[in-house]
Amino acid sequence: MITHDKLFIPGPVEVSEKTWAAFSRPLIGHRSEDFKNLYRGIHPKLQKLFSTKQPVFLSTSSAWGVMEASIRNLSDRGVLCCMCGAFSDKWFDVTKRCGKNAEALQVDWGKHIDPKDLDRKLATGKFDTVTLTHSETSTGVLNPLPEICCIMAKYPDVTLIVDTVSSFSGVKIDMDALGIDVMLTGAQKALALPPGFSLFSVSEKGFTRAAKVPNRGFYFDFLEFKNEQAQYMTPSTPSIGHVHALESKLDEIFQEGLEARYARHAHTNALVHEWVRRAGFDFFAEEGFRTKTLTCVKNTRGIDVLDFARRLREKHHLVIDPGYGKIRGQTFRLSNMGDETEQTVSHLLACLDDVL
Ligand SMILES: *Cc1c(COP(=O)(O)O)cnc(C)c1O
Repeated sequence: MITHDKLFIPGPVEVSEKTWAAFSRPLIGHRSEDFKNLYRGIHPKLQKLFSTKQPVFLSTSSAWGVMEASIRNLSDRGVLCCMCGAFSDKWFDVTKRCGKNAEALQVDWGKHIDPKDLDRKLATGKFDTVTLTHSETSTGVLNPLPEICCIMAKYPDVTLIVDTVSSFSGVKIDMDALGIDVMLTGAQKALALPPGFSLFSVSEKGFTRAAKVPNRGFYFDFLEFKNEQAQYMTPSTPSIGHVHALESKLDEIFQEGLEARYARHAHTNALVHEWVRRAGFDFFAEEGFRTKTLTCVKNTRGIDVLDFARRLREKHHLVIDPGYGKIRGQTFRLSNMGDETEQTVSHLLACLDDVL
C-alpha cells in the first residue's frame, strides 16, 4: 500500500521499503573490519554488474561528482564532448570550468551520436579524452555504444569516459570488452537507491593517464580510490547507509538474475511504447536509438503537459516528468527503471489514460 506520491520520473525513482530498511541499519566505522567485509562482500558483484576485472569504487557524491572527477583525472590536452541532450551537453560546460580544452560534437536533441562523425573528429589528433552519455535521459536516446567503441579502438591514446547513469543495470554494458576507461553511474536511477551516491570503475589505461595528469585534487583522485580499494576502504568517510542499501540491492539483482533484469526493463519499456502509440503520441528519440529504462514522449497531441502531470499526481499519487529544460511541455518522460514490473507500469499507464 503506497502512502506517498510515487515517482515515475527518470530519477530519483521509487525506493523500496526493503532498501530503506537496509539504508537505515546501525552505523559501522568506515575503517572497521565490518566495513572492509561489507565492501569485500559486494565487490565481486559490482565487478559482474560492470563486466570488469578492474576495481569498482564507491563515491559519496551524486554522479556529477564523478563526471567532473573523470575530466580532472584523465584530460590534459583536449576533450571531445559528444553532445545530444541536456546531460551530454553539460559535459562541455563542466570541462571548460575545470580549465580544460573542450570541443563539441553536437547533434540535435533526439538524435544519436554518429560514430563516423566521432572518427572524423578524432582523426584531427587534437583530443586525449572523449565524453559520452550512453542513455541521454533528457531525450530518451540510447547511443550506439559498441559502434562508438569500435571507432575508439582506432585511437589507443584517447580515453573514453561513459556516463551510464540512466542505463546501468537496466541494459547490459560490457565495460572491459568495450574498452571503456571510466564507466560511472548514480544511485538513484535503475539501481533504485536513494540519491547522493555513485559507482565507477577505471581501466588500467585510465590509471596510467591519471598518474601523469596534475591537479587531480584529493576527494576525487582516482589513484587515492585505487589505493584505498585495495584494502576495501574509501579515501574519505563514505555514506555508509548507501553501502548497506547497495548490498541489499545487489542481493536482489543477483536473485533475479542479470538477464532477467535486462529483460524486465525491456518488457516494461515496450509496454510504455505500446501506450505511446495507442494514445496517439510519438517518440522524441529517433527510431532505433531509444533507451530501455525511460521513454521521452513527444507531445504531438498538444496537451497541457503540466496540467496532465498535476492531475495524475492529485488523483493517482503518481509523479511523471513534464520534460527537461528546453523541451519542457513539448515532451514528457515516463520512467520504467528500478523495481518496476509489468504490474506497476500497467497501473501507471491505466492512470495516464484516466487523466488524459
Ligand atoms: C541523472 C543523470 C545525471 C546526473 O546525476 P546526478 O545524480 O544529478 O549527479 C547525469 N547523467 C545522466 C545521463 C543522468 O540521467
